[in-house]
Amino acid sequence: VDRNNYHLFQPLLYQVASAGLEAPQIAFPVRAFLRKHKNASFLMGNADGVDTASKTLLVEGKPIAYDYLLVGSGTRTADFGLPGVAQHCLGLKDLDDAMRIRDRLLSACEEALQTTDPIRRQALLTFVIVGGGPTGVELAGALGEIRRHIIPRDYPGGVYPNAAPGGVYPNAAPGLNLGDVRIILVETGDRILDAFSGSSARYAENFLKHLGVELWFGERVVEITESAVKLKSGKEIATFTPIWTAGVTGVSPAGLPTVKGGRIATVPGLHLVSDPSVYVAGDLNWLEWKEGRAHPQVAPTAIQQGSFAAHNILRELRGQEKLSFKYRDKGSMATLGRAAAVTELGNLRIKGFPAWSAWLAVHLYYLVGFRNRAMVLGNWAYSYFTYDRAVRVMHTRHVFPSPENKPETPKATS
Ligand SMILES: Cc1cc2nc3c(=O)[nH]c(=O)nc-3n(C[C@H](O)[C@H](O)[C@H](O)COP(=O)(O)OP(=O)(O)OC[C@H]3O[C@@H](n4cnc5c(N)ncnc54)[C@H](O)[C@@H]3O)c2cc1C
Repeated sequence: VDRNNYHLFQPLLYQVASAGLEAPQIAFPVRAFLRKHKNASFLMGNADGVDTASKTLLVEGKPIAYDYLLVGSGTRTADFGLPGVAQHCLGLKDLDDAMRIRDRLLSACEEALQTTDPIRRQALLTFVIVGGGPTGVELAGALGEIRRHIIPRDYPGGVYPNAAPGGVYPNAAPGLNLGDVRIILVETGDRILDAFSGSSARYAENFLKHLGVELWFGERVVEITESAVKLKSGKEIATFTPIWTAGVTGVSPAGLPTVKGGRIATVPGLHLVSDPSVYVAGDLNWLEWKEGRAHPQVAPTAIQQGSFAAHNILRELRGQEKLSFKYRDKGSMATLGRAAAVTELGNLRIKGFPAWSAWLAVHLYYLVGFRNRAMVLGNWAYSYFTYDRAVRVMHTRHVFPSPENKPETPKATS
């Protein structure tokens, strides 16, 4: 049962958001995937609730009886109750989010070119990412590359102190000034990529700075309005594009007991303490891994737990004892941009081109569908050799608030 008719490869969402890939290239129809599994069927719909007493799953009001239930409904963007985040921030969890970010970026550049108000232009060209984890860092790197390589080509006529290699651009004034395009990454801690080593984080920080991304450490967001990000330090960033990558919370059908982070606690066999017929896998599962922490909310956990839960159900049906889940850590990767990434596996730390090559190979391998792989590889090769982004197509023009349609006007950036 899924509310979407496709499987989504979330690790490449940021490339859809930053106009590098088309949305269908990172999604795959569930029915096409299940074709080869004759004993599986698919129902598209929203799972609203579970009645564990009668062993019934409710899908949009329709009851489905089960013997065993495996819940893997994942997470959604968490706003931690901060005012304005849910209303004004863009998240990055699904295809709609990615398309909204792309539309917002492209719309902002188009309007910035036309407005005569310099304060409004600066707010339009200021893109703020909140959260320095892998998602925020990957998105910041992609926006940094757009700033460096795409803005001078698509909006020529401005001032480009850091023109791309070979970049002499025809004068077709008015253009956008590269210095006006600001990408700000706001992070509460004193470094990015908290789950990586200090040396990987420093490499990533230097690479982002080289792309012109501003890193604001030790800053806590207290409120987001439609035209500003407000920080605890009193600073205020005028922006129409705040992007929230600062955290997620579990989403599960009503009727299941949740613990911290909206996740569902299980025993090591991956089923509920209170009900051995309900299994939980992936981002939603809370099972202690190390030092009071649950398993990381990453794809390897979800893949391993999904298949482990299925095997435990089969073992029970065969009258065998259930086993305890053991996580095989597959390491961590984050890509920063062209030929730059960090990869860590145990004590092994790789940076730069080798890490980037490994990142490409792993992501292509796990992407579902031959056609998707071929198209993504084609797009990456195109971007690598041309410094271009293949799909700068605006789907829906975003209308930014203005004195004509809204009372609030942005203030200058502190
Ligand atoms: C931007 C981004 C980048 C990432 N990058 C990486 C990375 O580089 N490496 C890595 O290992 N991990 C990465 N992750 C994390 C990884 O994608 C997740 O850990 C993984 O997808 C979790 O799998 P899951 O099956 O638990 O949940 P999901 O993949 O989120 O799947 C949940 C499914 O449940 C469906 N669903 C939810 N609620 C309902 C409902 N009520 N009714 C019906 N259907 C429902 C959803 O439509 C979805 O299909 C990234 C995540 C994001 C958002």
